[in-house]
Amino acid sequence: AKEAGPSTILFFEPQMLEEVSSRARLQRDLREALQRQDFALHYQPQLALDGTVVGVEALIRWRLEGHGMVSPMEFIPLAEKTGLILPLGRWILHTACRQLAAWARHGARRHLTMAVNVSAGQFQQEDFVQQVREALVETGAPAHRLKLELTESLMLQQIEAVIARMRELQALGVQFSLDDFGTGFSSLAYLKRLPLAQLKIDQGFVRDILEDHNDAAIAQTVIALGHSLGLEVIAEGVETEQHRALLAQWGCRFYQGYLFSRPLPAEALQDWLDAQPP
Ligand code: C2E
Ligand code: CA
Ligand code: CA
Ligand code: CA
Repeated sequence: AKEAGPSTILFFEPQMLEEVSSRARLQRDLREALQRQDFALHYQPQLALDGTVVGVEALIRWRLEGHGMVSPMEFIPLAEKTGLILPLGRWILHTACRQLAAWARHGARRHLTMAVNVSAGQFQQEDFVQQVREALVETGAPAHRLKLELTESLMLQQIEAVIARMRELQALGVQFSLDDFGTGFSSLAYLKRLPLAQLKIDQGFVRDILEDHNDAAIAQTVIALGHSLGLEVIAEGVETEQHRALLAQWGCRFYQGYLFSRPLPAEALQDWLDAQPP
């Protein structure tokens, strides 16, 4: 950028330039982090109505030297745009399966399921089914305890191809959850055709159910809809006992949120699990 004279920056508002360069920097840092494997997965417990822990969701964490934690809300969209999500997604799948396999060998944690977020671009890869199969075989993770969290953005794609691929994965034993339900491109027509095990109520709806009648109505409707389609329904972003109680009153049977635990590194999660009442 030595040659970049003042004329170059005249096209930008100072703030725009800052955004562009910090985006470029983030992209470069992301690439390097991938090579150095500077990422970690944290795991957030998912609980049943009676308080037993049924599984976890794997959430990626990135600690950038001299910057602290970078939020996945910031770098996942960028990784999706630049294609870096493909190698990153592979690493996520492998790491989550390795952890799942370790728990499967451990008596008290044998039953835990592992939910893994899958970006649309990742799912669309020609060899995605093969990637999942390899991750399972190479780690020895039980397929029926792996749950892939898909988002509605995937439904903008060729729906028949999406369904066919889901069926292939389902044949391996893998389950599916529809994440952020209701926030994206919503069509009830595809909902009954997808081989789903679970609907996930987005935290954006859960947050305000105590004050906002519309959000309360949406949450209630998603619970009823999910159950009438024979699906499990889980609420994310459950932060208070009042939230949990209201959701329970509406028939919701699975919960995830800060009320129970933040996402934790594997070791801390194991300590947390050990401290739970039997
Ligand atoms: P998401 O899949 O909807 O994940 C839920 C987010 O809510 C997580 O944020 C989680 O830490 C946060 N959360 C959990 N409980 C609570 C709560 O009680 N209150 C509040 N306010 N938040 C709660 P996180 O980890 O920052 O992830 C943000 C998003 O980044 C995820 O949203 C997901 O879309 C994406 N993401 C995270 N990890 C991965 C990954 O491994 N792969 C892919 N493709 N995307 C990921
Ligand atoms: Ca998720
Ligand atoms: Ca969400
Ligand atoms: Ca999401």
